[in-house]
Amino acid sequence: MANLRGRVLRLFAPYRGRILVTCLIVVISAGLGVVPPLLVKRVFDDALFPPGRRPVMGLLAVLVAAMICFYLLTAALNVLQTWLTSTVGNLVTGDLRVRLFEHLQKMELGFFTRTRTGVIQSRLQNDVGGVSSVLTSTLTSILGNVVTVIASLVAMILIDWRLTVVAVILMPILVLVQRRVSQIRARIAGQTQESLSELTAITQETLSVSGVLLAKSFNRQAGEAARYRSENTTQIRLQVRRAMSGQGFFAIVQVLMASVPAIIYLLAGWLIIAGRSGLTAGAIVAFTTVQARLLNPLVGLMRVALDVQTSQALFARIFEYLDLVPAVVDAPHARTVAEAPGPRGRICLDDVTFRYPDAAASSPPILDGVSFTVEPGQHVALVGPSGSGKSTILSLVPRLYDTTTGRVEYAGADVRTLQHSSLVDDVGMVSQETYLFHATIAENLRYARPEATDAELIEACAAANIHHVIVGFEHGYDTVVGERGYRLSGGEKQRIAIARVLLKDPPVLLLDEATSALDTVSERLVQDAIDEVAHGRTTLTVAHRLSTIVDADMIHVIKDGRIVESGSHQELMDLDGIYAELASQQLAVPAHHG
Ligand code: ADP
Repeated sequence: MANLRGRVLRLFAPYRGRILVTCLIVVISAGLGVVPPLLVKRVFDDALFPPGRRPVMGLLAVLVAAMICFYLLTAALNVLQTWLTSTVGNLVTGDLRVRLFEHLQKMELGFFTRTRTGVIQSRLQNDVGGVSSVLTSTLTSILGNVVTVIASLVAMILIDWRLTVVAVILMPILVLVQRRVSQIRARIAGQTQESLSELTAITQETLSVSGVLLAKSFNRQAGEAARYRSENTTQIRLQVRRAMSGQGFFAIVQVLMASVPAIIYLLAGWLIIAGRSGLTAGAIVAFTTVQARLLNPLVGLMRVALDVQTSQALFARIFEYLDLVPAVVDAPHARTVAEAPGPRGRICLDDVTFRYPDAAASSPPILDGVSFTVEPGQHVALVGPSGSGKSTILSLVPRLYDTTTGRVEYAGADVRTLQHSSLVDDVGMVSQETYLFHATIAENLRYARPEATDAELIEACAAANIHHVIVGFEHGYDTVVGERGYRLSGGEKQRIAIARVLLKDPPVLLLDEATSALDTVSERLVQDAIDEVAHGRTTLTVAHRLSTIVDADMIHVIKDGRIVESGSHQELMDLDGIYAELASQQLAVPAHHG
């Protein structure tokens, strides 16, 4: 906990200057708050009702002007203070949000497959947002309230210490009542929340298609309704109790608040009659005014205590994310690809075994002893049944995942010893799912190379067989695509993805052929685009249509995470194994019988 507090405080360190100024202003304005009541005393005693004389108008005017000036000054200080605190609070949470965002971006792909998107978004939005509102208020609230309480107490003692004692005795009672009520309300709130989720659960289970079907077929509707009714009654009772516990409290507070001055009057009268006081009318008015300022800060402080607890929980959640260690980080002395010993474009898998990070250790590995090499400029294809691990092999090259055992080498160096950004720069990936941002086509293309010229965009798109489609759109390259934008067909999206890789112009191409059926025309267009982009590059393809890989330099057949056959198309046909079987189905070429 102390550790947590230290970390939270360190977040504020860059802004200590502003914070210091803020604190100063808070202290000054809280302290100034007691001045007007003291002026009130003089207004009554020296200006309005000077002993045995008529009101002194000159002094009265000065005192009133002074009071108004003080109110103006306090108001101005308040505005300044609000501005400062909200700036600091938002700067701190802004920093935190960016840090969290950057950190999460570094997390490996596995983190995102494990974590629900909603949860990540909630941490960035709600948790950081929640902290923001607490930060801005807490900081000044504590300081301001403490100073107000102290200043008021000092002023009260200065006016009359005996009245102060009586007034102060009553305060703890109020605070205690407030505390007790808060506890009760928190408990009721918890119960209400539980009962509410129970109600929701019943609704969800019962009023869904399967739930209704089940209830109808077993004739259980009456029973379900009874369950719902009983939980609903609990809910009503809790809600009313919650509302009433608050009302009861406010009633008590109001009575006590109103009673304190009344009791003060009584005591003052008694003191005056006893002749043991220098109490004046002005002193009594000033005293009750100051005393009334005491309650709110005390209640405010109690609320802050609650806020701080809540924000600690939020901070803990945020730090939990910041403390996650990304699985893929650069080794201390990572080299660039250019410094690697082997030729660029060379990919080598050496006895690779792989399990997805969240898989049970007892489950069979997804890849088991996979070894092969792709020489620069070669075209190597992976074929095999769906789920055999082909896409997984591709994801190991740019370190979307790291191998469990064995190693993946690029340019003669273990990929774990290379600077990750340098490795990724060398690899272009076209995956089955093409993701386009909600942005214009041009912006989506420039994601690969922000400085690309319009002419280069057009060249890439022409090569990827998509230029003629884009110019057909009303807004051409400025057409907004993606989530809520213009919907491109699967084949068009893939060709845009290919154009994007052409713009990136990497020496290595990892191609995951889409399994989704394209019609023959768009398949032809996509294939031509792929041939264009693959030209002159080292290419590792996951192929589903064997027609596209007949000319591949090497074909590996993957089954259950192992390479079961390797060779050129002709060699594999001659082998008359799995590949030949697949080919006879797809290419209408009779399997070799010899
Ligand atoms: P292929 O490309 O040959 O169809 P994949 O490499 O996509 O096969 O998948 C191989 C196996 O790994 C499948 O059984 C699949 O369920 C599993 N798998 C794929 N992605 C993940 C993931 N992110 N987390 C856990 N298991 C996965």
